[in-house]
Amino acid sequence: MTAATTIAARLHPELIALRREIHGDPELGNQLPRTQARVLAALSGLELEIPTGEALTSVVAVLRGRAETSGRRPVVLLRGDMDGLPVHEQTGQSFASTTGTMHACGHDLHVAGLIGAVKILHELRDELPGDVVFMFQPGEEGPGGAGPMIEEGVLDAAGRRVDAAFGLHVMSAKHPFGVWAGRPGVFMAASDQCFITVRGRGGHGSQPHLVQDPVPVACEIAIALQTMVTRQFDAFDPVVVTVGKIAAGTKENIIPDDAQLDLTVRTFSAANHEVVAERIERLARGIAEAHGMTAAVDYQVGYPLTVNDETEYGLLTDTVIDLFGADRYVEEPNPEAGAEDFSLVGQQVPSAYIFVSAYPGDDWRTAATNHSPRALFDDDVLADCSALLAEVALRRLRRG
Ligand SMILES: [Zn+2]
Repeated sequence: MTAATTIAARLHPELIALRREIHGDPELGNQLPRTQARVLAALSGLELEIPTGEALTSVVAVLRGRAETSGRRPVVLLRGDMDGLPVHEQTGQSFASTTGTMHACGHDLHVAGLIGAVKILHELRDELPGDVVFMFQPGEEGPGGAGPMIEEGVLDAAGRRVDAAFGLHVMSAKHPFGVWAGRPGVFMAASDQCFITVRGRGGHGSQPHLVQDPVPVACEIAIALQTMVTRQFDAFDPVVVTVGKIAAGTKENIIPDDAQLDLTVRTFSAANHEVVAERIERLARGIAEAHGMTAAVDYQVGYPLTVNDETEYGLLTDTVIDLFGADRYVEEPNPEAGAEDFSLVGQQVPSAYIFVSAYPGDDWRTAATNHSPRALFDDDVLADCSALLAEVALRRLRRG
């Protein structure tokens, strides 16, 4: 037992109560006033500096450590995201949300876990040779809260630049309960969106030769994108392109003017990210042109690669293993195809991010994944989340 795990065990019941309260009242996007109010209430009475967000309902808490240091006092950032999803909860839990929104990605546990870390480190503040910035972030599921928080100065909230940042994510499947998982280097994908409009010229469905039918052209582009990702990119550095939406027309005998394709694009290296937009555009335009039409391509760059700094990630996993044992850590062989806006923090300062399974059952291989209306996250994991965040901050400050 460390001081962090001992305090976390004591806080556990209140963290569960807070998590369940937040779980029952999820909010979406960057405006989370009720969640923000709960965070501020949970932090009240502690010796913290708390600048709240201007453009969004973020909360930043700065804890000043009181231990002596000889040189520059380091600053560590701990981050938890706070937003829910537009999902109708179907878990049947007693504290389930009934509002049509759901904490289907477990960010309610991130809030409670980070509150626990604040309280642990606040109790241990006489031992902290530096400061801790706690980043309670809205909008991870969109439109993105980390970017605006960085613009509003979260990385300099302590008056000095953050030296290292840490975050975690609960998962509702893949590993048994309480197992931590991640990898050094590239951990999560870069995620972009692309909107393609094939412009034809509509008319009567019986006379396609008199018009320009964009529908088969859009279908050809959808298929050709899958050929492109396997023929133009290294099989060991893959690209995922999914046409999640395809839309055209109103009726079987009317050829529409336009057809629309909406894509999500995932890349796992900077090199592929650099070229994929241009290749998609070239392909869409080229196919449309081959049929005498045009394609407009609106490519929107989203969250960048989440890259775990080798040194900070090593500190994080050493801490996992020290606190919970080597059998509670799995190094993932491959990156995840999901994306995270914690990556924007990682672009500015060395950072490390890790998953922890919070699924309570034995059938974790087939359990409902994050974002499912049936995703289950057991809040028994909360004390461990708080202890890990607090302990890694303490160790990082001591390292200097
Ligand atoms: Zn999430």
